[in-house]
Amino acid sequence: MPSSKIIAHVDMDSFFVSCERLVDPSLVGKPVVVGGRRGERGVVASASYESRKFGVKSGMPIMTAEKLCPKAIFVPGNHKLYSKYSRKIYVLLRRIAPVVEYASIDEFYLDFTGCEALYGHDLEAMAKRVKESIFDRAKLSCSVAIATNKYVAKIAGKTVKPSSGSLTGTIVVPEGTEQTFLTNLSVERLHGAGEKTLPRLKEMRIQKIGDILNIPLTTLQKSFGPSAGSWLYEAARGMGSNEVHPFHFAKSVGHETTFEKDTDDAWQIHQTLAWLSEKGCYRLRRIGKKARTVTLKLRYDDFQTLTKAVTIPETNDDTVVMKTAYALFEEAHNRRRKIRLLGVSLSKFENGEGEDWLFPEMSSKKKDDLYQSVDAIKRKYGFHKLEKAASLDPREDKQAEKFGASSFQKPKIK
Ligand SMILES: [Mg+2]
Repeated sequence: MPSSKIIAHVDMDSFFVSCERLVDPSLVGKPVVVGGRRGERGVVASASYESRKFGVKSGMPIMTAEKLCPKAIFVPGNHKLYSKYSRKIYVLLRRIAPVVEYASIDEFYLDFTGCEALYGHDLEAMAKRVKESIFDRAKLSCSVAIATNKYVAKIAGKTVKPSSGSLTGTIVVPEGTEQTFLTNLSVERLHGAGEKTLPRLKEMRIQKIGDILNIPLTTLQKSFGPSAGSWLYEAARGMGSNEVHPFHFAKSVGHETTFEKDTDDAWQIHQTLAWLSEKGCYRLRRIGKKARTVTLKLRYDDFQTLTKAVTIPETNDDTVVMKTAYALFEEAHNRRRKIRLLGVSLSKFENGEGEDWLFPEMSSKKKDDLYQSVDAIKRKYGFHKLEKAASLDPREDKQAEKFGASSFQKPKIK
């Protein structure tokens, strides 16, 4: 038995644009921007490679994209269509690999460990076969990268995108070569290195991932903080999770957080509930569900724990869930003790396992558009990029002092 795993990362090429082109072939070869019509206030959800040449990127305002690429064709976005194709690809991948993780609407991880004999021990051929199968059945192109863990596979996939000039769209990083593979890549390729880490790396004149190898762990931790420092140390060495989590239809989504210091600060409590509610709703929208039950979990500093639930009309609206969570808290909180932990979970989903399981029809078109734009940014840049004012990290917010909450610590999600 090999000790390492065989993980494939499948990432669709400019997915939304490709789906639009299947429906309207006149868009093929043209600069296409999905996310909103000309003059609208939305953000770019997906841009074709033709428009990316002009600097158009996901997450940027439509109006900026218009300026950069005046000839672009702007398409509002049809999530029902994208989820239909996403499901089609998922179902197809399930036939190819024993374990498939649904990472996002256009990204999947496959675990081929133990299937070597089936594919003749030729990983290159295996990658090509996955790519060709998707193209044959769904007429959509993608990158397929095989490595021993998800992290290296994801980074490798980006290096074989059409925008990188790759003709194959497939790559294999054999076991034992992870570090060598990363060495000459720019630190910008480090998936997960955010807006704080990259500028700091630049300041330290670290341009290539391999440059990080020369820096001792303790120095990295001093410069970037304990967790980001050890993350960088491992990332540069091509270490990462090799656990592929099979997709299943969740019965509930929820998050809880333990305060770094037990608290009775009303403002901090409300911030946290808002943040937990947003996080839950974001996940609901990702899986195309609305919930009918909101459950609050509260743990006092003496570890007494209680939960309180309420059933409401189905929703995945941040504001509705936030208000409900506040109300539940007001009801549940009846002791003069500090609070150690808070949790918000959402269950009793509507919309069964239908065709449109990713983005079901929502009642308010306007709200839907807003959430699509917001979620596109959240997907692209991570959850913290866009949060409602009610759950802004007060350390970055002058109001915090006004409320005397300077000791607020961003809740850590478990
Ligand atoms: Mg993609």
